[in-house]
Amino acid sequence: MRDLFRKRRMWRRPTELKSSYDVVVIGGGSHGLATAHYLREHGITNVAVLEKSYIGSGAAGRNTTILRSNYKTPEGARFYDASVKLYEGLSRELDFNLLFSQCGHLTLAHSDRAMFVMANRAEVNRLQGIDSRLIGPDEVKQLAPAMYVGPDTSYPITGALHHPPGGIIRHDAVVWGLARSADAGGAEIHPYTEVLGLDRSGDRITGVRTSRGDVRAGVVLNCTAGWSTLLCDMAGVQLPITTHILQACVTEPVKPFLDVVVVSSQMHIYISQSDRGEFVMGSEIEPWTTYRTQGTLNFLQDLTRHTLELFPQLEHARILRAWAGLCDLSPDYSPILGRTEVENFHVSAGWGTYGFKAAPIVGKTLAELVATDRTPELIAPFALERFYRDDLVSELAAAAVSH
Ligand SMILES: Cc1cc2nc3c(=O)[nH]c(=O)nc-3n(C[C@H](O)[C@H](O)[C@H](O)COP(=O)(O)OP(=O)(O)OC[C@H]3O[C@@H](n4cnc5c(N)ncnc54)[C@H](O)[C@@H]3O)c2cc1C
Repeated sequence: MRDLFRKRRMWRRPTELKSSYDVVVIGGGSHGLATAHYLREHGITNVAVLEKSYIGSGAAGRNTTILRSNYKTPEGARFYDASVKLYEGLSRELDFNLLFSQCGHLTLAHSDRAMFVMANRAEVNRLQGIDSRLIGPDEVKQLAPAMYVGPDTSYPITGALHHPPGGIIRHDAVVWGLARSADAGGAEIHPYTEVLGLDRSGDRITGVRTSRGDVRAGVVLNCTAGWSTLLCDMAGVQLPITTHILQACVTEPVKPFLDVVVVSSQMHIYISQSDRGEFVMGSEIEPWTTYRTQGTLNFLQDLTRHTLELFPQLEHARILRAWAGLCDLSPDYSPILGRTEVENFHVSAGWGTYGFKAAPIVGKTLAELVATDRTPELIAPFALERFYRDDLVSELAAAAVSH
């Protein structure tokens, strides 16, 4: 009977914290759990994932699950492409259905200037072997027949960047699947264990102080996304990041009529239809910095006004839920990933509104960094150091509302 119960659990019940771990991962979101999962590949199993709330309580459980790799810079496109490819095999790898639907991704253009920028992006993407191309309004209509593409609107559609491998996935399944695998590999998952302080001696972190006791750690990984600057402060590391809220909402389920993700930076909206028939919609981050995840009426008013211009048939659909999550924004809209000036303290931060799609490649590359003590080539451009070298990787036109 006990065995049966054990089998039903996704991961072991947390025990007392040990006094020492080879690796302490702070943050039980998609990045922290993916890192614990991939550390298995290197035989590193004396690992603790410390999460101040429940697993997936941060942005991992609040995002709108858009995956894509059609970024603007070669560095970004290569990096996110590697992640989407890992996602393609992740259900099998975790033996857990993540409901990944590669339904395609449309970034709408509403001006000649936008068409020019997207043509440029498509070229960069294709040079990296990524399926991405500029299409006209007729093809947009074919891909999203239910969407209004005519002239009688505030922002007539002039074309779109079409990215067939993009799509949506089930975010809580990703979190649980990664946690289950990390646990099966020996990592300990400790929900409701808040990191309160880090002890630093010279260039090393020597201890992690938590709400359930203190532990020693060989390596400490800060995978706290929206809270990353707070954790870095504890280590005496400065991050050029501000934290904002991003809001999203979902309608009641309706019959399926949209099987592509639609994004418009100019209209500040993105929209997809979930497997359950709900329309999942979101907008741009709020401009003020905060850790308070409270939604606003303005968000719903602006979002629904623009959504109805594209999908007037949703006029009577009711909004079931709205929520907000934290986003850690870097100045160049690219992540800050890997080493800091503290030898054994690495970060995964600067994920803004687009970090969920990066979870597998973050986990894989951070695990490699820990195991080999070398920065993988793929993440070298995203080093914190770039802000001191003035060597930014600007994704401004391809990130932000585009997710
Ligand atoms: C509304 C919304 C929509 C989004 N849509 C998309 C999208 O469509 N596609 C996409 O790619 N990205 C999207 N994102 C961004 C994406 O969700 C994040 O960039 C990504 O989830 C961040 O990585 P994570 O999952 O590890 O972070 P999180 O899930 O936030 O994990 C960080 C964890 O650290 C924990 N923590 C914080 N402080 C401490 C502490 N002191 N001690 C212990 N634990 C601590 C937190 O509780 C949290 O669980 C969206 C974000 C939001 C808010």
